Amino acid sequence: MRLAQRLGIPRLSTGDMLRAAVAASSDLGNRVEETMALGGLVSDELIVDAVADRLKAADACNGFILDGFPRTIQQAEALDRLCVERGLRIDVVLEIRVDEGALAGRISRRAQEAAQRGEPVRSDDNPEVLRSRLEAYRQQTAPLIEYYDRQRLLRSVDGLQSIEAVSERLIDAINAMA
Ligand code: AMP
Repeated sequence: MRLAQRLGIPRLSTGDMLRAAVAASSDLGNRVEETMALGGLVSDELIVDAVADRLKAADACNGFILDGFPRTIQQAEALDRLCVERGLRIDVVLEIRVDEGALAGRISRRAQEAAQRGEPVRSDDNPEVLRSRLEAYRQQTAPLIEYYDRQRLLRSVDGLQSIEAVSERLIDAINAMA
């Protein structure tokens, strides 16, 4: 969010898009609700279609930050094809590294804070589902590190620092690529 504000371009979070679809009980929402609650990844086809559609919106015409996408090699390949078709270019791929112990603390804090504000708590912000989300990350998403490193697009930032420090490092990484 901070990055999007600083750069003046929209943040397109596939997780947010799917949560909105679930809240609206749309056809997409009904198809993904259970998978999300269990911490698995929804099908590549559904997510790629949703992203391809979202990128057509006017607010994405001067650049965008994809958050939570791609999460599989198939999605990354689909994004590459989309870039060729639409004359887009990936400037940088940012990896925010956080160890698993810290993640558990962060999601329980996020759940507590949402509850305190009277907001809905994410169905996947609990220790059991976190285990499945981490497994999905290890098996399906981690291979993207090498995929993008080979294309010289990857920059890794230590996510254990403060939010401000992480934002600064991310901006540095983006500027270094521009
Ligand atoms: P997030 O908000 O990015 O943590 O995403 C929440 C959940 O939405 C994930 O655990 C998946 O179930 C689903 N999801 C979000 N983005 C993707 C994606 N790119 N591919 C597959 N599933 C996704």
